[in-house]
Amino acid sequence: MGRILITGGAGFIGSHISLALLKKGYKIIILDSLVNSSFESIKRIKSENEGIFSNYSNNFEFIRGDLRNATLVNELFKDSSLTKSKQITSVIHCAGLKSIPESIKNPIQYWENNVIGSINLFNAMKVFECRTIVFSSSATIYGINEGSLLNEESFINPCNPYGTTKLVIEKLLHDIYINNNDDWRIANLRYFNPIGAHESGIIGEDPIGNANNIFPILTKVAIGKIPKLMIFGDDWPTKDGTGVRDYIHIMDLADGHVNVLEYLQKNFPQQINLNLGTGKGTSVLELIKKFQNINKVDIPYEFTGRRKGDYGFVVADNSLARNLLNWTPKRNIGDMCKDGWEWQRRNPNGYK
Ligand code: NAD
Ligand code: UDP
Repeated sequence: MGRILITGGAGFIGSHISLALLKKGYKIIILDSLVNSSFESIKRIKSENEGIFSNYSNNFEFIRGDLRNATLVNELFKDSSLTKSKQITSVIHCAGLKSIPESIKNPIQYWENNVIGSINLFNAMKVFECRTIVFSSSATIYGINEGSLLNEESFINPCNPYGTTKLVIEKLLHDIYINNNDDWRIANLRYFNPIGAHESGIIGEDPIGNANNIFPILTKVAIGKIPKLMIFGDDWPTKDGTGVRDYIHIMDLADGHVNVLEYLQKNFPQQINLNLGTGKGTSVLELIKKFQNINKVDIPYEFTGRRKGDYGFVVADNSLARNLLNWTPKRNIGDMCKDGWEWQRRNPNGYK
């Protein structure tokens, strides 16, 4: 059956996908530079894997390496191609830098890491005849669409360098597909706002450096590491004036990857763009209230001005993914708050 390469598999999303794939019996190989993650997440995936499949320690391998190193990436594919059971048959490409403010400060770093890394990966896939890829794209590529759900045909207009790197990688994959459309199976998954953690609380989100996204800040306020949550704006044209997002449980997002991989493997070569969200909007105030009620913890907060470049309402029309993949997000916002808090409570210092 070969192996699935997960680039960035030590990170927040990649680690949850890895666990979901292992639980379904897939063999995986993770490539990660650990620039924004910790080896501890790898250790935990490995020990969870050995717990489930004591006879299958061969189904998990980790390589520490950077996608910008073309030689390393080629060697990885070459070595894997020598043994049939180790051959890389598909790729889930999660590796990338993801901070919007950092990308504005240092666009070259973002283009170099995200775009050059992807070029090296796609080149090695071409050379070693691996033609199935699921790419971690983002809802950030869409332009302003205040108040309406975003579908895959909505206006595309990323407004920061991070979003631009996601769009150019999608475009590169499109060019690769057009060049050889009877061969490649490509899915661009446009994630909305993944939050929460694996139900066990053994893996979760632990960004290196300061968190920018709301959920890791919220859990850090809950555990007392940050004094209060600053809410960016109370004057958005939304139900309570605070920003609305489509939060999706990380394990629903991970399950979506298993489904899309199986969909690509079963169907004819194609390139598809899919929104992964729940289709439901939650405001900042609703998220805080839900977190407090479910977990019985206090979240001090204060209003401040709007964040530069922010949007009021970003919610997915997820009907294409639901119809095509036979996938439905199963967990609600309460589950996201409960599981995210369980991870933070059990690991007050994250992976450290
Ligand atoms: P993350 O930072 O936790 O994980 C990314 C992983 O990629 C990290 O482990 C990092 O060490 C690794 N990495 C980065 N550059 C690398 C390189 N050149 N070579 C090898 N490894 C490298 O981020 P995440 O939240 O897990 O996001 C995963 C992917 O999903 C990213 O591409 C991100 O842009 C995309 N995405 C995330 C979100 C979100 O809200 N978390 C939303 C939309 C899209
Ligand atoms: N947000 C906030 N305070 C924070 C971080 C985020 O009020 O410290 C708000 C932000 O304005 C948006 C929502 O929370 O309405 C989600 O922001 P996040 O950065 O997590 O996701 P993104 O904006 O990239 O979708």
